[in-house]
Amino acid sequence: MALPTFKYHPDPLATGAIIAADDECACCSQSRGYIYTGPVYSEEELDNALCPWCIADGSAHAQFDASFTDEAGIGGGGEWDDVADAVREEIAYRTPGFAGWQQERWWSHCQGAAAFIGRAGKSELQALGQEAILAIQNDAGLDDGPDWDEFFNALDKDGSPTAYLFRCTCCGTLGGYQDCD
Ligand SMILES: [Zn+2]
Ligand SMILES: [Zn+2]
Repeated sequence: MALPTFKYHPDPLATGAIIAADDECACCSQSRGYIYTGPVYSEEELDNALCPWCIADGSAHAQFDASFTDEAGIGGGGEWDDVADAVREEIAYRTPGFAGWQQERWWSHCQGAAAFIGRAGKSELQALGQEAILAIQNDAGLDDGPDWDEFFNALDKDGSPTAYLFRCTCCGTLGGYQDCD
């Protein structure tokens, strides 16, 4: 069974937000072969307990009043482009989130939310290319030089500092931000 399509998180298997697992979903009570591993904001404890279909169709949000990304972080709390309420709700309520070291922020561009590509360290940024590297360098506020070199060398997909990469769903520009623990 193909996974549902998430416009703003197009490859949740690659990012690790969804994994293959036989656990029963707390929402639909079915074991559908995949489980969501990302953050869940809800009264109930729902870590590793929801299937991607119940996220995609809004039933997990409806049943548990759950969200998967803090609405205030979408658009970076005003740091980036403002996002329409309908898009904000699609990301917060019907899209797998991701775990950051600090409060997660969702990059936006072209008056819309971007698609989350995943966490990135130095090698992942190099694979994505100069545009991705510059986006993270700008976010870090570091000019070319030893400080940036040190920071860039330390960037680790699974460590700290790490970068969070997004692609604009409108123009394809890469962007994002970095944080550390
Ligand atoms: Zn389910
Ligand atoms: Zn754009």
